[in-house]
Amino acid sequence: MTQYKTIDDLGDLNGKVVMLRADLNVPMNEKFEVTNTARIDRTVPTIKELMRKGAKVVVTSHLGRPEGKGDMANSLSHIVKDLEKSLGKHVVFVDDCIGPHVEEAIKNMKQDEILLLENLRFYKEEKKGDENFAKELVKPIDVYVSDAFSTAHRDHASMVAAVKLRPAAFGRLMEEEVNALSKGLNDPKRPLIAIVGGSKVSTKLDLLNNLVKKVDKLVISGGMAHTFMKASGIDTVNEANSLVQMDMIDTAKEIMATAKANNCKIVLPLDVVVSKEFKPMAEHKTVDLDHIPAEGWSLLDVGEKTIAAINAELDESKTLVWNGPLGVFEMKPFDNATNKVAEHAADLTQAGKLMSVAGGGDTVSALANAGVENKFSYISTAGGAFLEWMEGKELPGVVVLKK
Ligand code: AMP
Repeated sequence: MTQYKTIDDLGDLNGKVVMLRADLNVPMNEKFEVTNTARIDRTVPTIKELMRKGAKVVVTSHLGRPEGKGDMANSLSHIVKDLEKSLGKHVVFVDDCIGPHVEEAIKNMKQDEILLLENLRFYKEEKKGDENFAKELVKPIDVYVSDAFSTAHRDHASMVAAVKLRPAAFGRLMEEEVNALSKGLNDPKRPLIAIVGGSKVSTKLDLLNNLVKKVDKLVISGGMAHTFMKASGIDTVNEANSLVQMDMIDTAKEIMATAKANNCKIVLPLDVVVSKEFKPMAEHKTVDLDHIPAEGWSLLDVGEKTIAAINAELDESKTLVWNGPLGVFEMKPFDNATNKVAEHAADLTQAGKLMSVAGGGDTVSALANAGVENKFSYISTAGGAFLEWMEGKELPGVVVLKK
């Protein structure tokens, strides 16, 4: 972490008021109960470390997509209980994130408790990256710690403008995430392999264009592979039986040409699982590419030959970056390829042979469904930020903390 500022660069924090921009954007049910506390639990080590260093910790976050101030469905007050439970300390909730209530609460803070401020996005200025709002936010604090990697691709006031106004650093979570992602793409051990799946080519163009210039091997699977198969002359793939995007054929050809020019090997499906209906346990069969039925069946997964080929490529790789499922993983048995390749990657990782990083969108649930969520080197829960990083873009919330 020599490149970015971390908590270790902040000096003595004893007695200082430290604002922690966390990601507490947790899912809740209709009774406003938190249904998955992962983001809370992952923030707690940074809070504890700051408290151990004698800092007065003031936590801020966004939650959901509030319509404006007073949208109680998106109030961070709903998470106080879970934060207290995970932290083991008293949490004082403040019904605003700027202004006199916050200043008063900081003045009255007791040892061994923290403040949790109301949703930053109750102010539209937050998303606009407004500097005056950032000034108000940091007015009562001494030091700023930025720990919300999942929002790092946004130029929001709490992610960029506020960071510039006080001595600032990454929190441990952001540090861990940036470290893992750097090892995955920026400074990887080679051969480096990427697996990209998911539904459509059109949503992943930037990602594919960046990857073919950086990785040694690119596995393309899922619905998006259908366009690449068609582009490479597999005529049995058509609009009736697959997700092929005919208007993307030329683009797919260009991506394959760029790959060739950059010595990137593209790995496409060798066989596919076709299904009579789009529902779990529908009638299905595995067929070679020249036997894909022209109609009445849909390509929902890749077959055992493809799985074996991908796994063999993994055996010959040192680093893996993965985004997107290989098939329709939400329905059995069309999660087969995703599960088998995920298990193999997990085994190689556990054996110390592979550094594996995955993330973005459905990838986290696909890998959880495969039961490997704790067996990869790193699984990023940050959707958009992870994808933009895979696209090779600079993330404003990360760049701002370059030394
Ligand atoms: P994305 O958000 O682009 O990563 O796409 C994820 C979605 O792609 C998942 O919901 C999968 O069910 C879907 N998907 C993967 N493979 C296929 C396929 N062969 N046919 C239809 N949908 C697919």
